[in-house]
Amino acid sequence: MTINRVAIIGLGLLGGSIGLALRERAPGIATTGFDADPNVRAVATDRDLVGTVCETPGEAVAEADLVILCVPVGAMGDAARAFADALPEGAIVSDVGSSKRHVAEALAEALPGHTIIPAHPVAGTEQSGPEAGFATLFANRWCILTPPADAEEDKVEVLANFWRGLGARIEIMDAEHHDLVLAVTSHIPHLIAYTIVGTASDLEDVTRSEVIKYSAGGFRDFTRIAASDPVMWRDVFLSNKTAVLEMLGRFTEDLTALQRAIRSGDGDTLHDLFDRTRAIRRSIIEEGQDDERPDFGREDHI
Ligand code: NAP
Repeated sequence: MTINRVAIIGLGLLGGSIGLALRERAPGIATTGFDADPNVRAVATDRDLVGTVCETPGEAVAEADLVILCVPVGAMGDAARAFADALPEGAIVSDVGSSKRHVAEALAEALPGHTIIPAHPVAGTEQSGPEAGFATLFANRWCILTPPADAEEDKVEVLANFWRGLGARIEIMDAEHHDLVLAVTSHIPHLIAYTIVGTASDLEDVTRSEVIKYSAGGFRDFTRIAASDPVMWRDVFLSNKTAVLEMLGRFTEDLTALQRAIRSGDGDTLHDLFDRTRAIRRSIIEEGQDDERPDFGREDHI
């Protein structure tokens, strides 16, 4: 099976970036797209995010070999049901959702009898919407495929090759493991960022202008993450509840241990941890997953 026609449902950051990356890296593949929001469809047309922006989801998928759902995880089931009757037999249906078990169940229920291979490109920014997409979003980033146990191997390979064509590196794992790994590498960090920024803005003894003025001390790096799309992140926490709560329990225990170390003046415990965490940062840079320039490449670093 070769992919000649791709339909993208949801033309925001992820959907738009797939369309632009295809245009740049695989111009032979025809692209169609649909978004529920007419304003998004208008911007998608202006930015040429896909070859044809369709007025209905059915029209978008009618001739597709591959359909990729790029909507918030809580909307996956409804978005799939909206094109179910028009979906060609044999087409691969995939998605880019940030949690996988919940999405796999929603898609299987909405599209019985069809080939569903969920995926998650671990690439993004704090921006959202049809203006936010760019063609290099997936370059050198990991894309995790979570095929169900009975998935046809050749179709999994077709999807893996599709993502390799967009510049991504491929990993395959089961949906539950994905959800646990991403809970700790993505979902909990977002929850911590939302919390610290919320706490700072609710303080009575420190003014809002002081928080903003002195943000270069560390706070501003949390605000980048905490500026992420509220709908997307609400859905991620509700759909990955089990793994997030499990990891949050571990995190709370570790935080309590640090609290104890600070209270009892146990500098060795603090130093040992900070030493280990520094090594993790070095590994991320060596893997090419972040910028090694000081202060994340900011020119005005202090
Ligand atoms: P986005 O920029 O907000 O785009 C999502 C688009 O889907 C919006 O235009 C939205 O329209 C539209 N939409 C919602 N329900 C729909 C439906 N039923 N049918 C058709 N279109 C619908 O979001 P995104 O950042 O691209 O995220 C999309 C998916 O990618 C999410 O599942 C997210 O978990 C995943 N993801 C995101 C990132 C990231 O960093 N942002 C990274 C990896 C994966 P309205 O705004 O009008 O609702």
